[in-house]
Amino acid sequence: MIRSIYKSVRGLMPKSIRSEITKLIFTFSSKPFVKRDDVPLEKKFPGGKFKGGMIISADFELGWAWRYSKTNPNPEKMAALARKNFPEIIRLLNEYNIPITFATVGHLFLESCEKDDHNWMEKIPYFDDHWRFTQGDWYDCDPHTHWEKAKYWYAPDLVKMIQNAKVEHELATHTFTHIDFSDKNCPPKVAEDEMKACIDAMKPYGVKPESIIFPGGTYGNIKVLKKLNFKIYRKNTPYDLAYPYYDEHGLIVTPTSVGFSRQHNWTASYYIKRYKKYIDKAIKTGTIVHFWFHPSLDEWTLKNIIPEVMRYAAERRKNDFLWIGTMKQIADHINIKNK
Ligand SMILES: [Zn+2]
Ligand SMILES: [Zn+2]
Repeated sequence: MIRSIYKSVRGLMPKSIRSEITKLIFTFSSKPFVKRDDVPLEKKFPGGKFKGGMIISADFELGWAWRYSKTNPNPEKMAALARKNFPEIIRLLNEYNIPITFATVGHLFLESCEKDDHNWMEKIPYFDDHWRFTQGDWYDCDPHTHWEKAKYWYAPDLVKMIQNAKVEHELATHTFTHIDFSDKNCPPKVAEDEMKACIDAMKPYGVKPESIIFPGGTYGNIKVLKKLNFKIYRKNTPYDLAYPYYDEHGLIVTPTSVGFSRQHNWTASYYIKRYKKYIDKAIKTGTIVHFWFHPSLDEWTLKNIIPEVMRYAAERRKNDFLWIGTMKQIADHINIKNK
């Protein structure tokens, strides 16, 4: 009740007040909210000894995510930032030995493409929702060239950087062209063609995607995913922490906890305190915290927040409290256990 009243008036408040209220809610409510379950703790994590878990996923998209954005329609700027941050992200993950799930836009796997290459795919119809796509062609941004000439729209070099990292990361999908995947805006044939294009594009790298992160917090077309043997997806739910669970189609849901980004003008130490609380509460409740970020995230967060959160997570793993792994790893564990 209080939450819904707050939600409806928060848009009217100045940003600084909103930030303070968000802080107060975090302190005085039971946030992060936990989805309870009855899975025995010893069965929850690979190895059987851990008390809670952490998954980190990166929504890796370069220019594709921002084309039809209503708030930040700046694909080139965001893609340049992601490219600039990328080596440091990989270095940090190496340093703390943290495997993550890179949900990668399928087109980024291509080394090049030509004008008619994607014509076999049914394209998403116009929509005005999370994004506004009401004119032009969905592929208007596609440069149809070699990746070295258009590094904001292709990224075989960064995919190889992920694959050559010391830590074994997961390459998952984020659709082929960053579409709205909802049942409302995405017909099943569009969803299926996008997934098939991803499967083809990832083949040369020896990877078949089994995990998906829907673009823009959308969600849908689960039957298509099931048909193509996907196992797990990330989803926004009312919960902040949860042990992954089956949906009605037999796919596994891992709820989104919170993102790494500077949305408020809080201090670094306050941000870190919040993220640590998510980790500690996951351990206390036998759940998983699922952090996410864009490789194009702000440099302040990358420099001041992420290293300390990773260091802390690695420390909690050392004494067998925290399992750290990918979406695919937890899905495989749950599916084998339930066979
Ligand atoms: Zn293309
Ligand atoms: Zn995205």
